[in-house]
Amino acid sequence: MDDILKALLPGEIVSGARISKALGITRAAVWKRITALRERGFVIDSLDRQGYLLVHVPDVLMSSLITYGLETKWAGSQVFCYESVDSTNRVLRTMAADGAGHGTLVVANEQTGGRGRRGRGWLTPKDTSIAMSLLLRPEIPPAKVALLSLAASVAVAKGIRQVTGLEAGIKWPNDIVVNGKKVCGILLEMDADEQNVHYIVAGAGINVHLMDIPEEIRATATSLDLELGHPCSRVEIVKAVMRATEETENLLHDGSFMSVYETLSVTLGHPVSVQAVGETFTGTAEQIREDGVLMVRTESGSVREVMAGDVSVRGLMGYV
Ligand code: ATP
Repeated sequence: MDDILKALLPGEIVSGARISKALGITRAAVWKRITALRERGFVIDSLDRQGYLLVHVPDVLMSSLITYGLETKWAGSQVFCYESVDSTNRVLRTMAADGAGHGTLVVANEQTGGRGRRGRGWLTPKDTSIAMSLLLRPEIPPAKVALLSLAASVAVAKGIRQVTGLEAGIKWPNDIVVNGKKVCGILLEMDADEQNVHYIVAGAGINVHLMDIPEEIRATATSLDLELGHPCSRVEIVKAVMRATEETENLLHDGSFMSVYETLSVTLGHPVSVQAVGETFTGTAEQIREDGVLMVRTESGSVREVMAGDVSVRGLMGYV
């Protein structure tokens, strides 16, 4: 279906004969694929003796829609879309082990075993969300990976802002929140030895069309459509996040990254409750270091270092 869609996407009338010649398939096969696209929600007019005209594109996650007009240098250089997977991070790790390149993107319409930090689950119900994972093969030592985790949050927050205009912020370490509730979780996984990172899989789960938030996350979660009051496009968000990924890479190179991260942070400068294993303490989030550590000044005046792997951080009055 992706090949036919590519021919129709420019929005001009294309004859069945031209499509069948370009793709090397019969006119009947063209018709079959047009029918399959219509079944997915595409509206395609058949114009007498002229050909086909695409008049409506539904918000389905297909690689030809994501790559059309994307124009990034490397982010999303190859895009693989799936209807349902256990976890896009898991699928991409397998591809990475088989040699997939820097910038390979895996997207799914549903995850049946999405994961968050510390083995927690991540819900990605069918047709409502984006599950996406991007493969990075950076030449950096493992100690620098925490900085990329912060960078992934910046890329997703910027992408969401660009498409929706919503004030997406970052709750340390890497949840994206809108109006105090979580719309996205990010999970980076790496394969490395002591000196070198072999690859990083940067995964994000974004709630887009979720209107009925599942009971177990209702207190802390929201979706982009709920916050906007109207639907937004999942395809446009994936594209915007890919572009913002390259913009964020530029920020890392020109030295302005941490100041951009700080302006997007909804944690910095705020009172927080740090929930570690066997201990909870409160204080003010004073600084986020480049190694990803959160510095919290406690009520006694001392500063404690909080590592992302170990804790949940909450606002004193609510989630943020
Ligand atoms: P928090 O700080 O919110 O406790 P976390 O950063 O420790 O979360 P993550 O790994 O980011 O946790 O996400 C896992 C948690 O997010 C789950 O335990 C669940 O509470 C919540 N969650 C799961 N699916 C979604 C979703 N689609 N939208 C928002 N929150 C979700």
